[in-house]
Amino acid sequence: MTDLSAFSLSGKKIIVTGANTGIGQGIALSVAKAGATVIGVGRSSMDETAASVAAVGGSFIPIACDLGDHKAAAAMLDAAWSEHGPVDGLVNNAGIIRRADAVDFTEEDWDDVMDINLKSLFFLTQALARKAIAAGREGRVVNIASMLSFQGGIRVASYTASKHGVLGVTRLLACEWAAKGINVNAIAPGYIVTNNTEALRNDPDRSTAILGRIPAGRWGEASDIGDAAVFLLAPASKYMHGAVVPVDGGWLAR
Ligand code: NDP
Repeated sequence: MTDLSAFSLSGKKIIVTGANTGIGQGIALSVAKAGATVIGVGRSSMDETAASVAAVGGSFIPIACDLGDHKAAAAMLDAAWSEHGPVDGLVNNAGIIRRADAVDFTEEDWDDVMDINLKSLFFLTQALARKAIAAGREGRVVNIASMLSFQGGIRVASYTASKHGVLGVTRLLACEWAAKGINVNAIAPGYIVTNNTEALRNDPDRSTAILGRIPAGRWGEASDIGDAAVFLLAPASKYMHGAVVPVDGGWLAR
């Protein structure tokens, strides 16, 4: 018989960045339903997420932090560890996108995206690993990548570069830390219903083209990503290191 406790997060504390909205909110809810205390990190109000977690009987601790300030973010993680006890996992979800033709792409739009999507992901993960290794504890890291970790896309130069980078960092950290008991993996979401994709969904031509290419025939929900994150945070995935799991309705398989 399968031991279902291997899929539970009961008793664990999990940080989710960008937990106020979209995929991060979905991850927070799934992780809470699996039994963990969620520490939501973000710069906007997380009241809505706190309410949805409370509605399923879960625990949610909001921490205000602009992840663009890397030193402040690392200090935030240290403070959370001291105040709330050891952190078992980190989901690096926060991300931004800027759109422009490559010939017009500005240095600012390049730097802003790389700074949040890649640099802040690396240094926050480093902060967690330093604490875990010093305390002799295991840890889990789940990085939110993208289909544009594998494909080029159009008019999103810095986003594509950053999300390819997320895969590289995931694999490097997985190799460096596997023997230390820290699992680092990634999820590559497909087209998910969030504010980020609202314009696409409202454009009838593009929406039809996208849906026609998704084998599952529907847009993804934030909970689809949340449920995959639960697995990568749970004991059941203990032998997974450096994996990249597409959760895309079959988009990449096509
Ligand atoms: P949203 O734009 O809805 O949410 C992005 C989150 O990141 C928000 O919580 C936002 O906070 C947070 N964030 C951005 N910058 C900062 C910062 N400086 N400090 C703290 N938090 C910050 O995006 P999605 O939910 O759609 O996407 C979430 C992740 O999933 C991203 O990494 C994205 O690249 C990835 N993804 C999304 C796909 C989709 O179809 N939606 C597809 C593939 C990947 P705030 O609200 O305060 O700005």
